[in-house]
Amino acid sequence: MTQTARIPGRRLLHSPGPTPLPEEVLDALRRQPMDLGDPRVSATIDTCERGLRRLLCTEAADVFFYAANGHGAWEVVVENLVPPGGAVLIPGTGHFSESWAVQTEALGRRVVRTPWVEGLPIDLAAVQQALRDDRDHAIVAVFAVHTDTSSSATTDLPALRAAIDATGHPALFVVDAVASLGAMPVPMDALRANVVLSASQKALMTPPGVAIVAVDAQAAAVAARNPGPRFYWDWRPRQSELSYRKFCGTAPQNLMMALEAALGLIFLEGEDAVFARHRLLARTVQAAVEGWRTAGALDFFVRDPAARSVSVTTITVPPGTDVDAMRAVARDRFQVAFAGALGPLAGRGFRIGHLGDQNAASILGALGGVQAALRVMGVPHGDGMARAVECLAAGDA
Ligand SMILES: *Cc1c(COP(=O)(O)O)cnc(C)c1O
Repeated sequence: MTQTARIPGRRLLHSPGPTPLPEEVLDALRRQPMDLGDPRVSATIDTCERGLRRLLCTEAADVFFYAANGHGAWEVVVENLVPPGGAVLIPGTGHFSESWAVQTEALGRRVVRTPWVEGLPIDLAAVQQALRDDRDHAIVAVFAVHTDTSSSATTDLPALRAAIDATGHPALFVVDAVASLGAMPVPMDALRANVVLSASQKALMTPPGVAIVAVDAQAAAVAARNPGPRFYWDWRPRQSELSYRKFCGTAPQNLMMALEAALGLIFLEGEDAVFARHRLLARTVQAAVEGWRTAGALDFFVRDPAARSVSVTTITVPPGTDVDAMRAVARDRFQVAFAGALGPLAGRGFRIGHLGDQNAASILGALGGVQAALRVMGVPHGDGMARAVECLAAGDA
C-alpha cells in the first residue's frame, strides 16, 4: 500500500476485538521496557493478577498470563487439563465453539459436540444428554463459549452450570469469556467455573497479545495428574513468585502495563457502571437494528432478545448483499470500521462491536456510519438512527 493522506478526526473502531485503546492505555505502551529484575515488573504483574481476581469475583483462583491470543488460551486449557487421547464436551455456539473443537482435535484429543442451532445460545438439554451418555465419565471438561463473537449470542452461564450439576457428571466447567469479561459479570466462584479464560483485546481495552487463564484448585489438581507432555503452557512452573517463571521467559512488559492501566480504568468507573454502560449501548444498537429491520431486509441473527450479547451484534443481510463492499464504504467514506460475519455466516451478515472503551457518541457515530453505508449500497432499511437516539435519550432503565 502506498502512503495515504492523514485521516482527519478519528476512525471509529467497532470490530468486536481488537477494540479502541483509552489514552491511559496508550500512555502505558510508550514507556521504556525494564530490566527483568526491576521490582516494577513484578508489581505490574501482581496488580494485574489481583485485578483479574477482582473482576472475576474469585478469592483463590490462580491467574496465569501468556504472551498469546485467545487461541493460545484455548491451547492452555487443552494441554493442561486433557490427557492425550482424552475427551471434552464442546457445546455448539457457532464459529468459536467449532474453532476451539477443531484446535482441540488437532492436539490429539477427542471432542464430543452438541449441535449448534443458528441464532440460539447453548442447548442445555443437549449438553445434559451428552453428559448422561458419557457413563464412564471419559469427558474431562465442558468447554463453554460464553459469548460467541460470531453469532453474538450469549449463553446463560448459571443455567448451564445448573444443567451440568443436574446430571451428576464430574466434568470440569471451563468458560471462554474472551468476548464477555469486562463487559458483563463473569463471577467465577459463584458460577463454580473451574477455569475462565480471556484475552486482552476485547472488553479489556488492551492491545492483542495477552491471554488470561484463571484456574481453581480443582482444575489445578486435574492438571497435576495429567501425564501429557507440555512446557510453555504448563501451569506448574508458572506458579512461581518470579516473573521470568510466571511467563516462561520475558514478560510482555508493555502489554502488562497497558492491562494494568485498563483494569485501573474499569475499577475507577466501577464494575457495575461498566456493565450498565455496556447494557445501555447494546440496547442502543439493538434499537437501531429494530429500526433498520422495518424495511424487511435486515434482521437480528440472534432471535431470542434475552440471548443478545452486550458486546457485539450480528445483523443478517439479504442474499446478494456485498458485505465487504459495504464495510469498505463505511470505513473509507465514513470512518467507521465494523466487522463481517465469520465461518458459516460469512457473507450473510455483518457485526457491530460495542464493547470496551465505547460511549454514546462513539455508538451513534458507528450506527450513523453503518446507516450511511446501507444507503450508499442500496440496502433497504428503516430509520435506525432515530430509534438509537430515542433509546439514549430515555437513558438507563
Ligand atoms: C476473539 C475470540 C477468541 C479468539 O481470540 P484470538 O485472540 O483472536 O485468538 C476466542 N473466543 C472468543 C469468544 C472470542 O471472541
